[in-house]
Amino acid sequence: MTYDPSNIFARILRSEIPCKKIAEDTYFLAFHDVSPRAPVHALVIPKGAFTDAHDFHKNATSAEIVGFYKGVAQVVDILGVHNSGFRQICNCGVNGGQEVPHYHMHILGGRKLGPMVSVVSDE
Ligand code: AMP
Repeated sequence: MTYDPSNIFARILRSEIPCKKIAEDTYFLAFHDVSPRAPVHALVIPKGAFTDAHDFHKNATSAEIVGFYKGVAQVVDILGVHNSGFRQICNCGVNGGQEVPHYHMHILGGRKLGPMVSVVSDE
């Protein structure tokens, strides 16, 4: 998949649209999900143009990968969900249910989140 620079997270990175920022550094930006599925629902995105998890893991530099995942840990600490437990989700592609084609990590918590995957088909 070719990276589409008009996707909504690319526009947030360019400050064309606002977000509720949690943290940011050279490698990542974290903000609250606009449509939270749990009391805590944050998104962490890399600054680079990567379409999904696989693209990021294959093509990002080591510095970008370390910087991004250290950022995820920083955001978990800021959100205060480590002791109570949380879930990290990266939806990837059509079957993964990815809506925004810029790699992002969901961090969900604040309640028991239930089964990892629904057993009911959405098809
Ligand atoms: P995914 O299905 O993994 O691609 O998730 C995309 C997520 O982005 C969804 O949970 C949306 O609620 C969230 N989202 C979409 N637009 C925005 C926005 N402008 N600000 C914050 N979160 C957004």
